[in-house]
Amino acid sequence: MSWHATILTLFPEMFPGPLGASLAGRALAEGLWRLETADIRAHGLGRHRAVDDTPFGGGAGMVMRPDVTATALAAHRRADDARPFVYLTPRGRLFTQADARRFAAGRGIVLLCGRYEGLDQRAIEATEAEEISIGDYVLSGGEPAALVLLDACLRLLPGVMGAAASAEEESFAEGLLEYPHYTRPAEWEGRAVPPVLLSGDHAAIRAWRRAESERATRERRPDLWDRYRQGRMAGRHADSAASVATA
Ligand code: SAM
Repeated sequence: MSWHATILTLFPEMFPGPLGASLAGRALAEGLWRLETADIRAHGLGRHRAVDDTPFGGGAGMVMRPDVTATALAAHRRADDARPFVYLTPRGRLFTQADARRFAAGRGIVLLCGRYEGLDQRAIEATEAEEISIGDYVLSGGEPAALVLLDACLRLLPGVMGAAASAEEESFAEGLLEYPHYTRPAEWEGRAVPPVLLSGDHAAIRAWRRAESERATRERRPDLWDRYRQGRMAGRHADSAASVATA
């Protein structure tokens, strides 16, 4: 059975969108994953298929009704469905590469895209949704967030990236940002490639890359660096660059 993504949305026409092109699109065409979109509005109420209502307590905007959303979910997720169910929301825990790895290792995912001011809290609780945010900013809807989350998972599925790309050395694989990349020409507009990369000395290249990874993480992402250092002190990163002083 291929990896199965179900997206509950008010805008099914937004999918597969960019996931229909490049690696994910090819993998979709080859059946390495499958996509099901579920139109929440099909479960809306009355002649106008209403899915939202005004917020109790007042305030601007509308809120997605719990009854409509739960009915839409029940229609597309069987009781024995083992896939994680995620509600995309800026109030959620920040999405990480570890989440992408966890989701990619499973059978698939069910994603709920919010609109308006978001979903009635009772529906979030009743469905035991995992609440995930893709970053500290507010999108107009969960659909772009779903595309981002799916993209990060799909490229980790067996057979999607092929042999050319390696997920093992990428940013976040070990809690570090990746080292910088260089290609031909060896000199461009007065800028030379770091000589070690032309040396053919694989151990030296490995050490340089590790040191650059650590430096970039320390300078750009002190939050990741602190966590990495704690792991290093606990002996989880045996091959950290000896040349990098603990900041
Ligand atoms: N009133 C909400 C708040 O302040 O937290 C924002 C609602 S937003 C306009 C509408 C929908 O977009 C949300 O229900 C959610 O599904 C989606 N969304 C917006 N920003 C997001 C983010 N950073 N991560 C994940 N989903 C997001």
